[in-house]
Amino acid sequence: MPSLTKSAKAKSKLLVKQLKKVAKAVKSVKNGHKNGIKTSFAAPKTGAKAGKRVYFFGGGKSEGSKEMKNLLGGKGANLAEMANIGLPVPPGFTITTEVCTEFYALGKKLPKSLDADMRANISRMEKLVGAKLGDAANPLLVSVRSGARASMPGMMDTILNLGLNDKTAAGLAAKSGNERFAFDSYRRFIAMYGDVVLGMKPEKKEDHDPFDVLLDRKKRQRGVKVDSELPADALKELVSEFKAEIKARVGVDFPEDPYAQLEGAIKAVFQSWQNDRANLYRRLNNIPAEWGTAVNVQAMVFGNKGNDSATGVCFTRDPASGENVFYGEFLVNAQGEDVVAGIRTPEKIEALGKIMPKAYKELLDIRKKLEKHYKDMQDIEFTIEGGKLYMLQCRSGKRTGFASVRIAVEMVDEKLIPKEEAIRRVEPEALNQLLRPVFLPSAKKAAIEEGRLLAKGLPAGPGAATGKVVFFADEAEALAAKGETNLILCRHETSPEDIRGMNASLGFMTAFGGMTSHAALVARQMGKVCIVGCDALSFDYHARTMTVETAKGTVVVKEGDWISIDGFAGEVINGRIETAPSEVIRVLIEKNLDPKEAPVFQTYAKLMSWADAARKLRVRANAVQPDQAEASVAFGAEGIGLCRTEHMFFGEDKIGPMREMIVAENEADRRAALAKLLPLQRADFAGLFRAMKGRPVTVRTLDPPLHEFLPHDEAGVRALATATGRTVEQVHARIEELKESNPMLGHRGCRLGITYPEITEMQARAIFEAAVEVSAESPGAQAVIPEIMIPLVGTKKELDLQAAVVRKAAADVFAEKGKKLPYLIGTMIEVPRAALTAGEIVDSAEFFSFGTNDLTQTTFGLSRDDVPRVLASYLEHEIYTVDPFVSVDRAGVGSLMKMAVAAGRAKKPKLKLGICGEHGGDPASVEFCHEIGLDYVSCSPYRLPIARLAAAQAALKS
Ligand code: ADP
Ligand code: MG
Ligand code: MG
Repeated sequence: MPSLTKSAKAKSKLLVKQLKKVAKAVKSVKNGHKNGIKTSFAAPKTGAKAGKRVYFFGGGKSEGSKEMKNLLGGKGANLAEMANIGLPVPPGFTITTEVCTEFYALGKKLPKSLDADMRANISRMEKLVGAKLGDAANPLLVSVRSGARASMPGMMDTILNLGLNDKTAAGLAAKSGNERFAFDSYRRFIAMYGDVVLGMKPEKKEDHDPFDVLLDRKKRQRGVKVDSELPADALKELVSEFKAEIKARVGVDFPEDPYAQLEGAIKAVFQSWQNDRANLYRRLNNIPAEWGTAVNVQAMVFGNKGNDSATGVCFTRDPASGENVFYGEFLVNAQGEDVVAGIRTPEKIEALGKIMPKAYKELLDIRKKLEKHYKDMQDIEFTIEGGKLYMLQCRSGKRTGFASVRIAVEMVDEKLIPKEEAIRRVEPEALNQLLRPVFLPSAKKAAIEEGRLLAKGLPAGPGAATGKVVFFADEAEALAAKGETNLILCRHETSPEDIRGMNASLGFMTAFGGMTSHAALVARQMGKVCIVGCDALSFDYHARTMTVETAKGTVVVKEGDWISIDGFAGEVINGRIETAPSEVIRVLIEKNLDPKEAPVFQTYAKLMSWADAARKLRVRANAVQPDQAEASVAFGAEGIGLCRTEHMFFGEDKIGPMREMIVAENEADRRAALAKLLPLQRADFAGLFRAMKGRPVTVRTLDPPLHEFLPHDEAGVRALATATGRTVEQVHARIEELKESNPMLGHRGCRLGITYPEITEMQARAIFEAAVEVSAESPGAQAVIPEIMIPLVGTKKELDLQAAVVRKAAADVFAEKGKKLPYLIGTMIEVPRAALTAGEIVDSAEFFSFGTNDLTQTTFGLSRDDVPRVLASYLEHEIYTVDPFVSVDRAGVGSLMKMAVAAGRAKKPKLKLGICGEHGGDPASVEFCHEIGLDYVSCSPYRLPIARLAAAQAALKS
């Protein structure tokens, strides 16, 4: 993990070196633009050229392609690709992500030679468009857009209409014969530039954007409702007012020179790579900081030119449910992110067919063409200028877990992609969503009948959430930090600044915006429940209320009140509603829903069957109780990889004798207590073996420090004193004696069994008696094969001593019952010494199971319980890129695992190897386990679908 920072440094060193070469290189690149264009087009797939900083696209061909995302960013690469396949894309150029790294290496300065590259490319654009940047009579306007390798929607900044100043605005008005349009563009440019480059932000969270305030005032003055109704002279006034506001607040004059504007914009986009929300987004999505963003400079097309112009956003399929329908929204006479930002509530895409049939038909064709070409659901941005359609962006669309599974499976059925690709496509974690609860139908029906339905909006993020209303993202974040888990963030609209609070909430809803709004997008990506466009709700942030007129009168919902949101139906309901299990759970676990009536389950099952066929790793569950075991089998477990016997002791009837056993001061008393435990343990194991129907079951002998079982309250102490015929003081003294200064590293694991062999003996006896009993119940079936696993072994001798106890118990039981069963004895590998001496330990072990929780603790010397104290700053400094207790640290813990695998298999090539730490359900760790050749991963039952899919993906990779 720490290597990341290293490689970033190495990279910037390298770049500084490169810089020196660059002066020469630039000349040749510049010549390349004039003479060598053909050669760079000839090899679009490997078109990246050392030292080349700027890539042109447009006029039906491009220097880049969709293969060049790392260099050109996703947006740049796809603009190039769309131009290459003949879609109407306004011309432009992309400044590479490497320049972003250079920019930071140079202390936030652009490399000197970039200016020349830029001017050369601008002039190519000027030729294609037939207009000139800064020309008073015929000005070229451009957009300046960010675009990282991985899409980070809304996280960084975009500036539109760059190139306008007082002269060019007048020129644009004259040339277009449309003064309103020219000054609408100009005021938009000043506002964006003011915000992004000059830092004109609202001062307090209750405040609105300073430009919006002026715009709203203007609308009031002129007695109009929406921005598109403002006449030209009002927009002209706004231009002056915007500039004056900038001068008053920031103290600078608005730059008039287009090249100065361009330089400022490019720098601001590079800087936005490191803004607060982009940093957080990257952390949430594991995007390394050193990737950098590209900058796209593109000729403007205008959706705000009048009623034959429009702008919109579409998905080639429904990104919430995955249904194969064209899905999108648009606004007439609007520009840029008006649709996403919810300036006016947009119209459904079908309506475009009536208003601009030609452009709509072309859009439908492009929908088909893009899916055929990219073989995936695409998220597209388009603008129509004077009836003519232009494509401004396409990328693989973000989607919910539901949509992800459905689209992948249906695209196989449509023969667009092979099964392997469907397996690769679905993010294993996305399967979680399919298991999440929904509202109990009867409870929801009752709530609606009681008149509690507040509003209906658009269902943007499926699922059901019930929680307390919070109106501000930072407050949601703060409440969550205090442990409040049930929060619903309610806002008029959300903006990228809100993502921390959105992440901290169960779900969110907005009054404004459509299915492509910021809130909807983030919800689909985070897998949160979300409803947008509930325009019946009106917000008062100062009073901290939202108000709605219902059939039953006016309802005022205050901060802290409970509401429920149904992200399938788009319904906002007052108060709490009980939830019920999902379709998949009902079919698999509760068995009260017919799979034929469960379409979500069907696609899930199809995908899972493909994954099972593809994977090499087996999957097991960490489970203790019979019902957990049954659920595990339903989720695809092929065995139990870890039965934590200590969990069995916490039951009502067991904790008593367990405590007696612990406080016993001699072997005889201990044996007496263990004799009481034996039948209880035997019954537990029998239940587990029965549920697993002959599948292998790994049982770990007692592991945690004994004091964990002792009473923590006076009542418990008194009860224990009575039960054992001691005084309360004596019990207290014994508890005191058992206290350890560092229990995690203390008297636990096999150390318990070494000092008190009778504990291991009892457990082994219980296991074998249960195995014999259950095997006798169904003579024809697969007999139980217990696998006894000794924890915390660090030396071969420890394992030998414990194995001897187990073997003796087995021999005794088999002799008593007159029946023999096969069984295995193995060890956990969970302290570094075990990994380092695995070559010796293996002589006594029939299997290894990596206990990566303890192995991570002991390798890092950091206890899992204390990790929250350091995690945030360690992630921030990129000391860790992920929590090592979530994802196996390949470099450290992983090396130890590899070492143990190699040493073990060197002596016993067929040695059975598994993992039973929490990591067994983490996709990246599953991949690692596949790579190092483990036989199985074991994880908690609800992570099994994720592990199966991750295992299949790992197999397909290798
Ligand atoms: P994001 O990264 O947030 O998607 P974009 O760079 O796509 O931001 O820009 C936001 C919006 O600005 C686009 O959806 C598009 O509508 C508009 N836009 C960008 N470039 C142009 C252009 N050259 N002409 C017209 N509109 C543009
Ligand atoms: Mg943007
Ligand atoms: Mg965009």
